[in-house]
Amino acid sequence: MDFQLTDEHRMIQATVREFATKEILPRAAALDHSPTFPAEIIQKAAALGLMGMIVPERYGGAGVDAVGYVLVHEELARASAGVQTIITVNNSLVCDPIVYFGTEEQKRRYLPRLCSGASLGCYCLTEPAHGSDAMSLQASARRDGGEWSLRGTKVFVTNGVEADVCIVYARTGPEPGARGISKETRHQVFLHG
Ligand SMILES: Cc1cc2nc3c(=O)[nH]c(=O)nc-3n(C[C@H](O)[C@H](O)[C@H](O)COP(=O)(O)OP(=O)(O)OC[C@H]3O[C@@H](n4cnc5c(N)ncnc54)[C@H](O)[C@@H]3O)c2cc1C
Repeated sequence: MDFQLTDEHRMIQATVREFATKEILPRAAALDHSPTFPAEIIQKAAALGLMGMIVPERYGGAGVDAVGYVLVHEELARASAGVQTIITVNNSLVCDPIVYFGTEEQKRRYLPRLCSGASLGCYCLTEPAHGSDAMSLQASARRDGGEWSLRGTKVFVTNGVEADVCIVYARTGPEPGARGISKETRHQVFLHG
């Protein structure tokens, strides 16, 4: 097995290192001490293709492989763990479930705008009384006419204040544990956006 980086990996690494050094690092300390959301940095990251890295190109993503994805996050986190967290949530916690479990309609509706920076995503799993033991979550979702009606409380939601696409984990059936979550369609992703 060849463990060397390819020319494409090195190019990705160099491009993101330059971006992180010029655009993020000089502001990183100030951002850590302020509640300001770095919208301008996120838009520039989106222009570089960093908001939907592993998303297939046909949905507006960069189509980067796993090694390229890791290289990008190394460079971003070197400059600012906060900015890297914003970007990784949009990529891994929001785009990934849609790519793997979303319907074709959901992919076409949400992925292009999450990749382009037109939208920002968040992932709502943790609750006040349920962190590590996520399968005990209590939030529920019920069909209400043609819509899903959500009831519950989520905490620690990265990007929550800015996001307009939210993936919400909720109980759709009465069974305890994981079985009661999205019982009706096992891989249903509840999207609000
Ligand atoms: C930077 C950051 C970003 C986050 N972003 C998101 C987000 O976007 N969306 C979201 O839904 N959540 C998010 N979270 C929440 C995160 O997923 C939870 O903090 C995590 O699941 C732990 O839950 P908790 O804080 O309630 O701790 P607890 O689950 O209460 O755990 C407290 C301590 O007990 C230990 N512990 C727990 N269970 C056991 C066990 N069975 N045996 C031994 N030890 C145990 C844990 O290791 C930990 O040390 C974020 C958290 C952080 C820090």
